[in-house]
Amino acid sequence: MKITREELEELDRQDPLKQFRDEFSIPDDILYFDGNSLGALPKATLDRINEVVVEEWGEKLITSWNSAGWWSLPEKIGNKIAKLIGGDDGEVVCVDGTGLNIYKLHSVALKMRQGRKVVLMEGSGFPTDSYITQGLIDQLAQGHEIRFVEKDEILDAITEDVALVSLTQVHYKMGHLLDMKAITKKAHDVGALVVWDLCHSAGIFPVALNQCDVDFAIGCTYKFLNGGPGAPAYLFVAKRHQGKATQPLTGWWSHEQPFAFERDYRPRKDIWQYLSGTQPVISLAAVEVGIDMLLRADMDAIRRKSSALGDMFIRLAEEQLPDYGFTLGTPVDPAERGSQVSLCSENGYAIMQALIEARVIGDFRAPDSMRFGLTPLYTRYTDLWDAVMKLKSIMDNDTWKADRFNSVSDVT
Ligand SMILES: *Cc1c(COP(=O)(O)O)cnc(C)c1O
Repeated sequence: MKITREELEELDRQDPLKQFRDEFSIPDDILYFDGNSLGALPKATLDRINEVVVEEWGEKLITSWNSAGWWSLPEKIGNKIAKLIGGDDGEVVCVDGTGLNIYKLHSVALKMRQGRKVVLMEGSGFPTDSYITQGLIDQLAQGHEIRFVEKDEILDAITEDVALVSLTQVHYKMGHLLDMKAITKKAHDVGALVVWDLCHSAGIFPVALNQCDVDFAIGCTYKFLNGGPGAPAYLFVAKRHQGKATQPLTGWWSHEQPFAFERDYRPRKDIWQYLSGTQPVISLAAVEVGIDMLLRADMDAIRRKSSALGDMFIRLAEEQLPDYGFTLGTPVDPAERGSQVSLCSENGYAIMQALIEARVIGDFRAPDSMRFGLTPLYTRYTDLWDAVMKLKSIMDNDTWKADRFNSVSDVT
């Protein structure tokens, strides 16, 4: 029996997370499936930004560095993010961008494993991770190299010459989920360190960094954490590694006594060593609102709903869209995927443009992936039905063949 819209309406009624949807500002006529790229706007963010700008900046001016706690926001928000990713207090800071944080952590890890020259990465992973690593290797000029592998080759490729295994827990394009525990253990068994990129995993299931004995991790806050476009990223350094090696962007915020204004650098020995300079306070304030909302939600319920949404989307695609040559890029088993479903088609770019014009917003990743991000705090089961039906109509009517859907814009 094919699933009906009425059954999905019932699932929405029973959804234990349904009250969160109203806390977001999402236009009524949009079906939003891009929370894995830019999370939606929490309504409370508007009030908070207004308060920061009008009261903290406008009225209290520079005194807010102390009185409004601006100075310690990276640490305060970091401690909240730690709860989402299985870290402890003092192991996470919210700071800079993802790429900069990769640079800092990879520098430290390679310094801690001098003599080893290999960084293991997934060749199909998000490019900035490897681009930054290539830049670092060039800068170090010590003969490091990246060993690129794909998911099924990872464990065997972790050999005694590997200094660092740097992987993204959930693949940005295909949505497959790597086994953090087994890979970290294998890396440690051969004496290597690990850096995990959590961009597509934090906020959609309970990440367990310390349970998996992870050394380092990074992630962004503008996807499933709903921090806003370009919001500051975060990094995690296990307590046992703090104070052992110094990250290279040794700005004044990471000095043992920043307000002593000494001539020479003296590193802090804790997570503050991973800060460099003044942080964007207004953006940090927005991040905190998104994190606070996730901390109020039950992360196990989020994972259950994320899996159920993915199962349902795959089922609807099988039942309603069997004739259009789509293939599933994402694993069928929910235990093996994050919170997105990728449908692949050689015409994926144009089809996604037609969907976006029809107010179903997902995105496209070359060469053929149409990505549908599922955000348990605001994606409804009926949204899946409505999106699949719009997709069906675009295919039945050949709407996607129009010229306007076949020219490429700057951001896909
Ligand atoms: C989104 C994402 C990034 C983002 O990098 P920025 O520096 O924020 O542009 C990095 N890595 C992965 C795996 C991502 O998915």
